[in-house]
Amino acid sequence: MAKEELECSFCGRKKPETNLLIAGLDAHICDRCIEQAHGIVLEESKQNDSSDLSAELKLRKPQQIKDFLDEYIIGQSMTKKVMSVAVYNHYKRLLQPVTKDDIEIQKSNIIMVGQTGTGKTLVAKTIAKMLNVPLAIVDATVLTEAGYVGEDVESILTRLLQAADYNLEKAEKGIVFIDEIDKIARKSDNPSITRDVSGEGVQQALLKLLEGTIVNVPPKGGRKHPDQKFIEVNTENILFIAGGAFDGIERHISKRLNMQAVGYSASKSDEVVDQDNLLQYIIPKDLKDFGLIPEIIGRLPVLTYMDPLDAKTLRAILTEPKNAIIKQYQKLFSMDEIEFTITDGALDHIVDKAIEYKLGARGLRSLCEEILTDAMFELPSSNDKHLNVTKNYVEDKLIKTTLKKLKAVS
Ligand code: ADP
Repeated sequence: MAKEELECSFCGRKKPETNLLIAGLDAHICDRCIEQAHGIVLEESKQNDSSDLSAELKLRKPQQIKDFLDEYIIGQSMTKKVMSVAVYNHYKRLLQPVTKDDIEIQKSNIIMVGQTGTGKTLVAKTIAKMLNVPLAIVDATVLTEAGYVGEDVESILTRLLQAADYNLEKAEKGIVFIDEIDKIARKSDNPSITRDVSGEGVQQALLKLLEGTIVNVPPKGGRKHPDQKFIEVNTENILFIAGGAFDGIERHISKRLNMQAVGYSASKSDEVVDQDNLLQYIIPKDLKDFGLIPEIIGRLPVLTYMDPLDAKTLRAILTEPKNAIIKQYQKLFSMDEIEFTITDGALDHIVDKAIEYKLGARGLRSLCEEILTDAMFELPSSNDKHLNVTKNYVEDKLIKTTLKKLKAVS
């Protein structure tokens, strides 16, 4: 056959009419037919997969959930407890057979308040991992009301579908973590003056998703393709976890506590308020004062807070969790048969620097990276099979300029 006569054996399109024509033994296939066939494969595999999701969902009792979280997350006992109960109730609700009584268990969407780097994302990730459900992590700051430049709230569900490999049933029982929810707080107390694109409008748009509704989701997100079919996603059983630093919310808490103290009996007002960790006294009203609309707060009924990370916690984060940073480096080195050890003094020094430069838990990783890069570069091609990192070694690697650099990026 002459080259210009080549055509797709499936749809008959001639080569010039296609973007791509792939040759097989006796046949050819064009890009459009490949896409269509891929769609059919996905559809088929979805049907086969979705047989028994409840068997796959590994639901444990609250105590077991907390035990699992303990393996990965240091401290944050209040959040772990609150989350364990909320997650247990949420999944119990959706594994429950339909009963005839009128008691409808409502969704227990969660909101976590705490400084950045205290483990909010880690908590959401760990829960999803434990339950073996898909997780989408989205940043509230990129969301805008429909029609504005940015991402519509539906894009959240596109991400979840992607995380679930387009298995709709799995996605509908998944978890969405909305980070930086505080950034879409209402900026002014008077919402009627101008339309607040990044704030209240997005909160309004989120409301529907949170409470449970059917949303038409473009499977590939972004630009709407003319041929692209929408997928109907029911958000009723999706667990939403929102997180945010809520910088400055302590002022609202403190103000409220002071006002309460004035109005209270002497014995109550004598209770010592821990000024260093005011978040522990947070109540939904504080979120409202910060700028979340009451409807959103109502749909995130489980409120919890993260403790700030002190030196002891940072030190533990380095070595204790199941996939602690130091354990990860040990594994990396062991792949080259290198034994990596680190002294207590070195670990303490890393923690001191993380605190001194306000790098938080995320900074621990960057510090370790700075300290170990030379060794990771040199040792694999040397005969040296042991690396012992001491305080001096750390000091040597962390010259001032490096720390400044780390501080700048954190
Ligand atoms: P956030 O979402 O609150 O900003 P992350 O969950 O992203 O914080 O935490 C950043 C990193 O710091 C995590 O990947 C983890 O390695 C570490 N980390 C933070 N808090 C903890 C914690 N309580 N226990 C264990 N690791 C933590």
